[in-house]
Amino acid sequence: RHGWLTTMTRTRWIFAGQLGSQFDDGGRMLLVEARSVFGRRPMHRAKAHLILSALRHRVAELGDRVEFHQVDHYGEVVNGRTDLEVIDPTSYSARRFVRKLGAEVLPSRGFVTSEADFARWAGARPGKRLLLEDFYRSVRQRTGILMQGDTPVGGKWNFDAKNRHAPPKGAVTLGLPDPWWPTEDHIDAEVREDLDRWQADGLVQLVGADAPRRFAVTEAEANRALDDFIGSRLNDFGPFEDATLTGDWSMAHSLLSAPLNLGLLNPLEVAERVAAEYDAGRAPLASVEGFVRQIIGWRDYVWHLYWHLGEQYPRTNNYLQATNPLPRAFLELDSAAVEANCLSQSIEGLNARGWAHHIQRLMILGNWSLQRGYDPAALSDWFTDMFIDGTPWVMAANVIGMSQHADGGIVATKPYVAGGAYLNSMTDYCGGCRFNPKVRLGDDACPFTAGYWAFLDRNERLLASNFRLKMPYASLRRLPDRDAIAMQERVRDRF
Ligand code: FAD
Repeated sequence: RHGWLTTMTRTRWIFAGQLGSQFDDGGRMLLVEARSVFGRRPMHRAKAHLILSALRHRVAELGDRVEFHQVDHYGEVVNGRTDLEVIDPTSYSARRFVRKLGAEVLPSRGFVTSEADFARWAGARPGKRLLLEDFYRSVRQRTGILMQGDTPVGGKWNFDAKNRHAPPKGAVTLGLPDPWWPTEDHIDAEVREDLDRWQADGLVQLVGADAPRRFAVTEAEANRALDDFIGSRLNDFGPFEDATLTGDWSMAHSLLSAPLNLGLLNPLEVAERVAAEYDAGRAPLASVEGFVRQIIGWRDYVWHLYWHLGEQYPRTNNYLQATNPLPRAFLELDSAAVEANCLSQSIEGLNARGWAHHIQRLMILGNWSLQRGYDPAALSDWFTDMFIDGTPWVMAANVIGMSQHADGGIVATKPYVAGGAYLNSMTDYCGGCRFNPKVRLGDDACPFTAGYWAFLDRNERLLASNFRLKMPYASLRRLPDRDAIAMQERVRDRF
């Protein structure tokens, strides 16, 4: 089975997350575009476009070395084949499928640390919390990135105190050049025509704007996007990592999650390139460390937690018993159906680009969903389908654990819930909003401020004993209008 003949003749089936050269060892390749993948649930048009464009661009690049099929279901091409090998794919269902097929399975790639590395790291801390900070430090030590021997460069592991500023007062944008984005070609035009036809035939339900493609689909484009980030936004990444301005959709973010998740960039190389900017004296340590932490810390950690927490984790955890359905504004990305400016702007940006930055995801869309008690599994599907970088492995820790606290505290020790005061300090949305972040009762009551108190009120039995929520619960108990707020938010129909 492992003899030279089979090695010579084996064909490597690669998936949409494996489109870069790090997944290519020079042999024959198989790519299958299965239309059913795009028709399972409503999907953002920009996401469907990005994936199809990326697959077809890879086919064009590989030329004679690739066997390419466009079918309804994968099985039509791969069932019964005995010549296939795969690099372990990124979801439970895909892993099951390739094993059932009997394909030769190679270890996964596309992350800084392997699953065996993580298992060893986690195994060395029996009974302890698996903290991002500890994991991140171990990856710094293992890779030597931003290290001087055993000590972190600059004497500290973490420069958060220098980062995470409020947006500059009075500014409309950060004043950085517009991010680079690709020029569409004939492949994109064909994808657009196909999507139009599939939609007209009722085969797919596409949501969101049919805008020009903004994210990389080839390794060359991904490297252009990385160069652009390093050249024009890296230095401001740290200070404004958590800030939001209405007029600046990208802020100083890298916009690299999609090319990373498509496999077009090697995360270790990305981190090394960014660290080299500090070494060369071109970028401040606080920004460089903040970014490196996202790539070699958060991204790998979230990936490993997906496997560590288990397949059932997203469907079986609903600690806060949240069962409300997602509203039409979410499902149809209809920003006009929403009056709260922060929420409306975040949905509008998502509609336009299929992307939102971390704070819009966590502290606006996620925070809102947590406060309103949306079903976490449905929300997780929504994040997967509506974001160009959405993939199941990202959802477990980010949506179920961190954002919705649906696991009762396995991933994060407290829910990411915040009221209008936080949003008013970290964004410029409140100035243009018909609600007032300081008001919690009545027509002008900010649905985030009132929603924050109503959330604490509703979940008191489950959350009041959480040490990190002691202060908020003490404040809730002092609120003279607590019952009236809870009642107001139970029946709120305008937000
Ligand atoms: P930057 O802010 O420039 O960060 C650099 C890179 O770090 C990102 O490209 C990403 O690869 C990595 N990264 C940073 N934080 C995380 C994290 N928490 N988890 C995983 N990777 C991280 N990321 C996705 O890749 N796909 C998703 O579908 C996704 N959904 C999210 C949903 C919620 C509710 C939350 C709270 C976070 C989600 N994230 C997701 C993580 C993060 O918000 C995005 O990676 C980031 O906003 C993408 O924009 P960027 O490339 O400009 O990131």
